[in-house]
Parts: sequence; C-alpha cells; structure tokens
Amino acid sequence: MIYSGPVFEMACDQFQVIADYLEIPRDERDRLLYPKRAITVSCPIHRDDGKIAVYQGYRVQHHLTLGPTKGGTRFSLSVDIGEVAALAIWMSWKCALAGLPYGGAKGGITVDPHALSRHELEVLSRRYMQEMIPFVGPHTDVMAPDMGTNEQVMAWFMDTYSMYQGQTVTEIVTGKPVASGGTEGRREATGRGVAYLVGRALERVGLQPAGATAIVQGFGNVGSYTVETLAQRGVKLIGVSDHTACYFDPRGLDTDALLKHAREHGALAGFSNQLSFDPRDLLVQKCDVLVPAAVERVIDASVAKRLQCRVLAEAANGPTTPDADVVLDQRRNEIFVVPDVLCNAGGVVVSYFEWVQDLQQFFWDESEVMSKLYHVLDRAFTQVMRRVERDGVPHRTAAMAIGVEKVRNAKNTRGLFP
Ligand code: NAD
Repeated sequence: MIYSGPVFEMACDQFQVIADYLEIPRDERDRLLYPKRAITVSCPIHRDDGKIAVYQGYRVQHHLTLGPTKGGTRFSLSVDIGEVAALAIWMSWKCALAGLPYGGAKGGITVDPHALSRHELEVLSRRYMQEMIPFVGPHTDVMAPDMGTNEQVMAWFMDTYSMYQGQTVTEIVTGKPVASGGTEGRREATGRGVAYLVGRALERVGLQPAGATAIVQGFGNVGSYTVETLAQRGVKLIGVSDHTACYFDPRGLDTDALLKHAREHGALAGFSNQLSFDPRDLLVQKCDVLVPAAVERVIDASVAKRLQCRVLAEAANGPTTPDADVVLDQRRNEIFVVPDVLCNAGGVVVSYFEWVQDLQQFFWDESEVMSKLYHVLDRAFTQVMRRVERDGVPHRTAAMAIGVEKVRNAKNTRGLFP
C-alpha cells in the first residue's frame, strides 16, 4: 500500500461508513476507494543563491469513469502522497454530488511557498507542470488552485503546458486569471458558495444572517471571500485566524480593514495587538456560524464536544475527524453541519464552468456564472437534505453517499474492462 497517514485513513474510514450505509458488497469497495493512478516526481530547481534544491511533487487521479479528473494543486509542507490521495477521493464524491462530469484528483509539492522568492516559485511551478505533462490533459486531468497556490501559479502552469504543445491550451487548468482565459467569478467562487450555503443552513435552524455571528479559521482565498460575502449579508465576524495571527472580539471585527490588511501584507499578522487571541481556543468560542477554512483535522472529538456554534460550515477539506463525527451526530439537534464535499463545492463548480467556457471559447459574464453556481449548490443542498430526512443519516453521510452512489452506478453500468 503506497498510501498512508492520518488524512488518508480518515478518507478510508469515512468511505467504509458510507459503504456500510449503502450496503455496497465488500468486493466492490476497493475498486471505488483506491485511486486509479498516482504520480510522484522530483522537481529540481536553481534557488536564487545558485544552489540546486529538489522538491517532491505528487498527483493522484482517483477515477476516470465519468470524464477527466479534476482537482487542486497544493503547495505546503504537509503534502505527502497520503494527503493528496485523500483529497483526490473527496474530490470524486464532491464532483459527483454536484453533478459534474469529473472524477477527483489532487496534486501538490512538499514545500513552504512563503519560503520561496517569486522567481523560485515560478520555476518550481513550471518544473512541476513540465513533469506532469505526460499524465495530464484537458480530457485527462485538469488542475486548479488549492492551499499555497493561486491564479498566478495557474497561469504559469497553463503557459508551460502550452509552450510544450506549441499552442495555447487554456483548458488545461482552471482558476487562471481572467486575462489568461479564466472565468469571471472563479476567484470568489468557493467563498461565495460557502456563504450561500451558510444562508441555507441558517434558514434551516431559524436564524437570520443579519446579526448572526461568525468565526472563520483561515484567511486565504476561501476564508477571505467567505468573510467578505458573509459581511455583505449582515453576518458579524467575531473571530478570525490564519497561520500568522488570531483575533477575537465579541463586539465584532472590522472586516473591511482585515481584508485590506491581508491584501496589503499577505497575512493577518500585525493587524492588531489588543485583539490577539489564543488560536487553540478560537473554534470553541460561542458563535452562530463556525467556518474552518484552512487545514484538515482541526475538529477532533474533544473539540467537537466543546463547539458552541449553531452551524458548522466546512469550507476546508477534511476539517472534521471521524471520531468528531460521532460526537457531532450525538449533537445533531444543536449543530447543523454543512459537510465539506457540499460546503466548498463552489470552487469546483465554477472551475467546471471555466473549463466549459475555455473548450467553447465562449465566455459568460459574472452574473451568469453566479446564478448558475447558486443553482447547482441549491440542487445539491436540497438532495442532501432530502436524504437526511428520508434515512435519518448525518449530513456528511448523506452528502458523500450521493456522490459514492453516482460513481458506483457509472462504474457498474460501464462494466469492468476487459
Ligand atoms: P490559501 O493558501 O489561499 O489559504 C490558506 C489559509 O489557511 C491561509 O490564510 C493560511 O494562513 C491559513 N492557515 C494555514 N494553516 C493554518 C492554521 N494552522 N491555522 C489557521 N490558519 C491556517 O488556501 P485556500 O485555497 O483558501 O484553501 C483553504 C482550504 O479550502 C483548504 O482546505 C482547501 O483544500 C480548501 N478548498 C479550497 C478551494 C479553492 O478554490 N481554493 C476549493 C475547495 C476547497
């Protein structure tokens, strides 16, 4: 077994829960769970001081049953093959739940992108894409941004792939700048989708967005646009953190000033001395909406027991461990969970729109992108809630089961080659 580690084990444990619930025969399970392909590459670059440094890169493609694979590329010190495989598996259930013609994929490099200069980041991005050329393609595997990568990295990926093809191939990645074939609305899509689904969840628990309080962990692409959109809907941000700082004020934080500070300085550090707070206690403060939007496994059983939120909106992938799920199931009347495969699906939905627009070379305006996004998220939310009501299962089980079922049906109708 090449995959290991706590995040991979988490994806496996979650799958077995779903497989038991769906009564999937034992001999079918491995075919659904284990990734189709895993690629590991060494990426050597010249650092700015002239020395050679080598970084390990990965790409895992989970299944190709419904179309190409789709998934982000993460630059982080936490990246290993097990984490990437887990993220690829979750992408499969997410895409299927949203009704997209994709399997899941994920990739990454084990590197701290903050420790690289802009030039080093560019050469590493280009070398990684160059190493991946034999394994990716607009109809094989389409990359996107994730933690530690952004529009600029996607533009370098696209340019590198295009140079080798001898023609511009915008549809090889999504999350590109609009100026290089990206779509309106992709940058904001994941955070806006999270905020939209928070709105649906608040309706369900009988709370109005105006005046509701929120705590958000992570202030990158997803966290910052979630904060911005929640604020536009009247939600009061009382706590926020990133890897450099944590702030809490029950009277409310100035979201415009936080967004401005983070855009100017690249992080939250230095925003305030008075409002600093212990990040270990942030998630368990009383609030209406809690949004983990950073890394995996931040809510374990002990945190889950102490949560004081009414809605848990999982913007990050895999923030909640299976033992925390057991606690959350016991607390299901107190805490409404919007599981990750639903909550952060806005990103891949608009990535899909970007791919479609690139393939057709026919571009939509932002309002069209957004209204189509909300339509897809609404449909998925409604399907999940119907399932919860019909079978009395937790929200995560319902959401993942819809995804697993779709992949399973596609595999069974296509049959097993040869
Ligand atoms: P990003 O790199 O833009 O931002 C990550 C943020 O998390 C940064 O603010 C960083 O400081 C913070 N962070 C890192 N470690 C932290 C810690 N221990 N405590 C608090 N904050 C910490 O990444 P992103 O694209 O916003 O992704 C965040 C999460 O959302 C990831 O789980 C990612 O897989 C998921 N996601 C992203 C997208 C997307 O479109 N970018 C789509 C779906 C899911």
